[in-house]
Amino acid sequence: MPAPAVMMPDSEPVHERIIEWYHSFQRDLPWRREDCSPWGVFVSEVMLQQTPVARVLPRWEEWLHRWPTPADCAAAPTAEILTVWDRLGYPRRALRLQQAAQAMVTEHGGEVPATSDQLRALPGVGEYTAAAVACFAYQQPEVVVDTNVRRVLVRVFTGAPTAGKTYTAAQRRLAHDVFPDPELDDGGLACTWNIAAMELGSLVCTAKSPACDRCPVREMCTWVASGSPAPSQDERPRGQPWHGTDRQVRGAIMAALREAAATQRPVDEHTLLEALPLPHASTEQRRRCLESLLADGLAERQGQSIALPGIF
Ligand code: SF4
Repeated sequence: MPAPAVMMPDSEPVHERIIEWYHSFQRDLPWRREDCSPWGVFVSEVMLQQTPVARVLPRWEEWLHRWPTPADCAAAPTAEILTVWDRLGYPRRALRLQQAAQAMVTEHGGEVPATSDQLRALPGVGEYTAAAVACFAYQQPEVVVDTNVRRVLVRVFTGAPTAGKTYTAAQRRLAHDVFPDPELDDGGLACTWNIAAMELGSLVCTAKSPACDRCPVREMCTWVASGSPAPSQDERPRGQPWHGTDRQVRGAIMAALREAAATQRPVDEHTLLEALPLPHASTEQRRRCLESLLADGLAERQGQSIALPGIF
């Protein structure tokens, strides 16, 4: 007998249940508090792009303590910016964050701009970050879709086990189709929906092991109603490799340069590359990674010496 067709749920009860759950179970994160400045929200969104909350928290606190406004960050020495970024990974984000702060000073009177179009024009700001800052800092009812939201949406409304690597046109249509009416509650409902769906994806509807037994929309979820089909081999979430990668070698070089920057010293190139605590990394890989950091503007060379930007 063919399996009965599974109906896609109405979006309104899904909003209600997930928002109600959010009000009870949301994490108390400093960038979500009412007294957090738009700059604090902006910094959090840049840091959280590729780094988990637990690692972002201490760096965010330090960043906001040192540079409580865009003007403070814009004027800071770049070596200090990269040092405070520490091991958050993908350090080009730190450079872009400072460049965005400088653009806020020169083009927006030292304020974080309020519309997603203005935000999108800042260095390093893409569609997601622009929408998230407009929504979470200025309560603009923008559709905010990160990986967590995509996963919740496809499971609840389409029954797919995973959302895949890219934000597809079909997912974009779905996100807009099920988005709450932006007029309701002056856009407040839409903004709360964004953060609530994101939180559900982070805490309950996770990539590898969704906790459906404690999910507020279990009875409405199309994936569950379809018998919770397993993802195909290709769709299975995989952790990003780290050991032996160029990212690991770049990280080790940056760590050595940060250490030297604490005493405002450059380091000898040969000594720097030889001393990396990575026995598996070949000389060719070490050199390649250093050249890529120089090309990215994350390090500078003078003769045989290397340093973080601004040390020479
Ligand atoms: S029931 Fe399970 S799969 Fe569906 S939204 Fe909740 S946690 Fe995700």
